[in-house]
Amino acid sequence: STDPDFEGVDQEMASGIIEPRSPFAHKGNFGHALLIAGSVGKMGAALLAGKACLRAGCGLLTFQSPETERSILQTGLPEAMLLTGHIDANYYRSIGCGPGLGQSAAAATLLEQILNEVKRPMVWDADAINLLAVQTEWQKKIPPFTILTPHPKEFDRLAGISINESERWNSARALAISKQWIIILKGHHTLIAMPGGKAYFNTSGNAAMAKGGSGDVLTGLLTGLIARGYTPEKAALLGVWLHGRAGDFAASEWGMESVLAGDIIDQIGNAFMEIS
Ligand code: AMP
Ligand code: MG
Repeated sequence: STDPDFEGVDQEMASGIIEPRSPFAHKGNFGHALLIAGSVGKMGAALLAGKACLRAGCGLLTFQSPETERSILQTGLPEAMLLTGHIDANYYRSIGCGPGLGQSAAAATLLEQILNEVKRPMVWDADAINLLAVQTEWQKKIPPFTILTPHPKEFDRLAGISINESERWNSARALAISKQWIIILKGHHTLIAMPGGKAYFNTSGNAAMAKGGSGDVLTGLLTGLIARGYTPEKAALLGVWLHGRAGDFAASEWGMESVLAGDIIDQIGNAFMEIS
């Protein structure tokens, strides 16, 4: 591209962002992430996001999820903790919202509470974006530099229908500037639109990732990277690249048809090692 404000995210950029893990560190140094995720029948999304979050290198993870589903999370991901009651949202270094959340009244109440309390950037995906598209008065409460990760349909719900991809990309760039959000518009070449007007397209990833759960993995990864200490802008660039690269490794191991979202999670470490 000849547009100086539009740049590819590649291995070199990702390796320039990554920071080594201090040998003297303890888990408290790497941040505590909170994932507001899951509902009856969609706990898999929460699990996928949670595993990816821990694979991103954060120190601790707590889920906020329905009490009735607790055994799924506690057996599926024993490394994570679970909160079912009151949240002290400001206690967490990073908050990711939306995977498998559903759009119930309870989910909306929870997100509203989060928006009233949290002043630092978060990660919003999936049903959190779908609710935000309806609850338009929430939009001014989203903290600047919050990362939104819509797929094209979710983006159109939020911003209005675009007739083609190029119009959608322009719309995403404009929305990132006007709302001061980081918009990750997912697709074959995922767009990362920054509040300052700069935009990037990802060069990793493949069509094996076109399967349920892939996006939940990205949300967890981004939430984990912010907890780990990366700024939201760096987390967005590094996270999108790592996610696609892990998908590339998964496709070479399992083949284009047979990759599962969980296979992407299992390759996040290899993607990190390639740039460390
Ligand atoms: P979601 O629709 O929320 O599950 O997100 C799907 C994820 O998989 C996004 O991160 C996409 O960028 C990625 N993905 C899906 N299809 C492709 C594709 N054909 N090429 C590259 N990445 C893809
Ligand atoms: Mg999704």
